[in-house]
Amino acid sequence: MDFRLSEEQQALVKMVERFAREKVAPGAADRDANNKWDQCLWEQMGELGFLGLPIPEEYGGSGAGAVTCLAALQAFCKGGKDAGLFLSWGAHLFLCAVPIWLHGNEAQKRKYLPKLASGEWIGALGLTEPNVGSDAAGIQTTAVKDGDYYILNGSKTFITNGPIADVVLVMASTDKSKRAKGVTAFIVEKDTPGFSVSRKLDKMGHRSSPTAELAFEDCRVPAENVLGEVNKGFAATTDALVWERGVFLAGAIGLMEALLEESVKYARERHQFGKPIAEFQLIRNKLADMKVAIEAAKLLAYRAAWKHDVGEDGKFDASLAKAFYAEEAVKVANDALQIFGGYGYISEYPIERLYRDVKLLTIGGGTTEIQKLVISSKLIRS
Ligand SMILES: Cc1cc2nc3c(=O)[nH]c(=O)nc-3n(C[C@H](O)[C@H](O)[C@H](O)COP(=O)(O)OP(=O)(O)OC[C@H]3O[C@@H](n4cnc5c(N)ncnc54)[C@H](O)[C@@H]3O)c2cc1C
Repeated sequence: MDFRLSEEQQALVKMVERFAREKVAPGAADRDANNKWDQCLWEQMGELGFLGLPIPEEYGGSGAGAVTCLAALQAFCKGGKDAGLFLSWGAHLFLCAVPIWLHGNEAQKRKYLPKLASGEWIGALGLTEPNVGSDAAGIQTTAVKDGDYYILNGSKTFITNGPIADVVLVMASTDKSKRAKGVTAFIVEKDTPGFSVSRKLDKMGHRSSPTAELAFEDCRVPAENVLGEVNKGFAATTDALVWERGVFLAGAIGLMEALLEESVKYARERHQFGKPIAEFQLIRNKLADMKVAIEAAKLLAYRAAWKHDVGEDGKFDASLAKAFYAEEAVKVANDALQIFGGYGYISEYPIERLYRDVKLLTIGGGTTEIQKLVISSKLIRS
């Protein structure tokens, strides 16, 4: 394994981190406090090419590999400390644009990818429903063929970018008796009759990213908007699992790095009992634990991304990585908050915000329990 970054990759990482530190970090606390979506930053991210990184150049992206994308996302999180903008970027790119790239026909790729890659259009994935989460095969939203259209009925919830999305990849059941083998993916545009944002959702963290419940009431979607084949909708999301778990969400390892960076700085500056708290072994122990967790998380995530880039199946590795970095991120945030003491609990510092943000990693993209089911199932089967 060799995941040393080339000079070109290092230059990209440097550029992303500088943009994040200079443009993203300054307003992150305000956007969190006020649930604020920043369209201006989004457009700048589009102009810099962030929003289409892995999409092939012919469709408006830059054809970056998984390792490059992971390094860029990580740098963005580390420098910007805006988990919401990161979440919106990831959902847009890895949950909507990437499945269209991997499973769309030529007409769909030409129609959607350039607009998504530039950020002119915002993408989302509608999989989760009010009664259907981890057991995604039990999707209750239905799609019934009617001539050249499918009629969608049902609702989706917890949808990242839901309130602002121009295009939503919607998973609906076309044959309930077949469960996972009866699910189809549809590309739904925001102006489609019968589609609406039924409710905006307030949440604990990632608050600069808008989240919504979506409604489909006799929503008429052209049959040409089926992504891939009918009843094979899950192929679109399972193929993208390395991108979701091993690349997109793994970018949040950068939030862990930001927590450590802040903690080291604070431990040096904060004096108690006549010396910097960094002199106390119990504080140093926490800093060391944080560093070990970050480096181990990086190794697991980069291995999954690297496997993908060299043409191996990195899905299992992506689950291994996510089971680890998600739980470790929560521990790292806890240690950071403890090092900051009372100031960690006060919103003048970014620690309490990041503490709220990282918890999502154990839930979104398949919970930790689901990753452990994937891991243990393979152990038992082999
Ligand atoms: C902020 C946010 C953004 C999100 N963005 C999106 C999005 O853009 N698009 C989208 O489609 N979804 C999105 N989701 C949904 C997310 O993917 C789901 O929340 C997640 O898959 C878990 O589903 P659930 O919340 O229904 O929990 P449930 O599936 O109801 O699980 C509840 C608990 O039971 C456990 N559990 C479930 N099944 C098992 C089992 N077999 N064995 C052991 N334990 C089990 C779970 O691990 C969890 O602890 C988002 C969620 C959040 C909070």
